[in-house]
Amino acid sequence: MWLIKEMDIKKASKYSIYNMSELEKSDKAGCYYCKSIFDISEISETTDNGKTAMCPKCGIDSVLPDSSPFKLDKNTLTELNKYWF
Ligand SMILES: [Zn+2]
Repeated sequence: MWLIKEMDIKKASKYSIYNMSELEKSDKAGCYYCKSIFDISEISETTDNGKTAMCPKCGIDSVLPDSSPFKLDKNTLTELNKYWF
């Protein structure tokens, strides 16, 4: 049983690529690979010519900005992790 609708879960990948402009509007971001939540100032690595953020904790490009429709908490990140990994 998913807490988040599967349709929404699928949208997560759209927010984790080419997301630097969204991240600039956010304070926090969460990674649904390692499930950490961090300050966007911690992001130092990017990919896709600087357009996609890499997680500062695990280096995977699964970073969701808090401006996305997802509530950034452990439950959300755990659900997304189960679906995508
Ligand atoms: Zn991570």
